[in-house]
Amino acid sequence: MPDLCQALGRSRGRHIELRPYPLPTPGPLGLWFETPAADLIIFQRETTPLHQDHIVLHEVGHMLADHRGPAVAADQWKALLPGLRAGAIQRALQRCTYDTEEEWEAELVATIVGEWASVLDHVTPTVRNDDLSARRVQAALGDRQGWL
Ligand SMILES: [Zn+2]
Repeated sequence: MPDLCQALGRSRGRHIELRPYPLPTPGPLGLWFETPAADLIIFQRETTPLHQDHIVLHEVGHMLADHRGPAVAADQWKALLPGLRAGAIQRALQRCTYDTEEEWEAELVATIVGEWASVLDHVTPTVRNDDLSARRVQAALGDRQGWL
């Protein structure tokens, strides 16, 4: 997942930071904060790595679709953003329901990318990397095999 976000950040010209955090439940599983310098994705730390990947892909789906979503009160998440003024946040989205078209679209992106990466795990020749996550991203985004 870090490789995917690094590549996406390069193409967007903005660094993407992934930050696991023990988000309170019930509540959002993931949040995306857009600042002038970078995008910050905060995701639930207290779940499986596979679920964490899906949460991050969901937020990436919002980025790719340029969703605006309903405003999220950044003050509510101050503890997650040390050193960042709430006023510096240009956009904030959180994932907790699927009842809007934007949430549905982001979820679809997460599902398609995740499933495609999973399928490629089984059909892609061996990639020189011991990290399963890195192999999946490389397979999904590699030449003539990916969804892009
Ligand atoms: Zn969402």
